[in-house]
Amino acid sequence: MKVPFIDILRFEAGFYETVTEKTAQLIKNGHFAGGPVVGQFESALKAYTKSAHALGCANGTDALQLALRAAGVAKDDKVVIPDMTFWATFEAVVNVGAIPCTLDVSRETLHLTAKAVAEAIETFKPKALLLVHLYGWACPDTLAIRALCRDRGVILIEDCAQSMGTEIGGESLIGGAAVATTSFYPAKVLGASGDAGGVFFQDEALARDCRILINHGRISHYGHGMIGWNSRLGAYEANFLLESLGHLDARLESRRKVCAQYRERIRLPGLTFIAPAADVLENGYLSVAVMDPQSRPAFEAFLKSKDIGYGVVYPGAMSEQPGAAGHIGGRISHGNAQWVAGAVINLPCFAHMRQDEVDYVVDSVNSYR
Ligand SMILES: *Cc1c(COP(=O)(O)O)cnc(C)c1O
Repeated sequence: MKVPFIDILRFEAGFYETVTEKTAQLIKNGHFAGGPVVGQFESALKAYTKSAHALGCANGTDALQLALRAAGVAKDDKVVIPDMTFWATFEAVVNVGAIPCTLDVSRETLHLTAKAVAEAIETFKPKALLLVHLYGWACPDTLAIRALCRDRGVILIEDCAQSMGTEIGGESLIGGAAVATTSFYPAKVLGASGDAGGVFFQDEALARDCRILINHGRISHYGHGMIGWNSRLGAYEANFLLESLGHLDARLESRRKVCAQYRERIRLPGLTFIAPAADVLENGYLSVAVMDPQSRPAFEAFLKSKDIGYGVVYPGAMSEQPGAAGHIGGRISHGNAQWVAGAVINLPCFAHMRQDEVDYVVDSVNSYR
């Protein structure tokens, strides 16, 4: 048996046919760059995430840049980001002319803590904080960090690229954020057939500015009120995403079951599965376990010998990327991000993974000596 780390082609019966039929309709109607389907998808996305305003855009990195710009982050403003995240978080801050300062994560929760955020606010006096929710979870201290940023006047932007459908305290994570972003990269839980992203706001004025930024700063057809760029969501992707959204709850449920089975059934000394906080409903984006960084290479070789795909999300700290030099404005490090980079291992997990595939992974890992 061979089990991939991820298979994005496990579509439901009829999905492929419906999407291609509707795409053909878009071509016949000449709906390429916009048209009604974009608005339909945005409305469905707003309802699904329980957000006040949901906007489609070109990709998840643009979504971060749009959110930073719309929220008022400008040249030379300091923005705190976690030292453990995907590189796009760092890039987005630099691309809007601001200065990223990295903050170490916790070895226990793999995310920022409210205590660390309070220290970073004292140290860096930042304009904004970019809180990243990794692995399909919510940062366990989300509610405390939201309150802290509100009290100290720090703009909070939440990167929910991996957390579509995640809940905290029974509420939508995205819906509860003042400003949030997501990615519809094909491998995310709600994936497009190419690149796409989303931006979410509670405030109507910020959402209006963001929509202007997405479309060349347009305030009328040839009137430009801001320096934006072209980050419009295309009609084909909106159509693909709208169809996918109808299947999302079932997809998330099947992913959650895979993560739960690994946690319940795998018993390997030295391999510790990490669960989201008790009040968090995960979306099952990734299964996360940690092991002693010195033991991981041998375990990776074993998984390869069993034809089991795996991930290492993410293998390096942001502050130590070669591209960070010359851009980073400060760093609070206790070596935790480096430890996490060496310790994390992600077993196969994707929507509609078959039970015999899960069994094979569980039995193989349990047989490892
Ligand atoms: C995927 C991802 C992004 C970037 O999204 P793209 O659509 O690939 O630009 C940003 N942040 C995080 C945490 C991500 O996982």
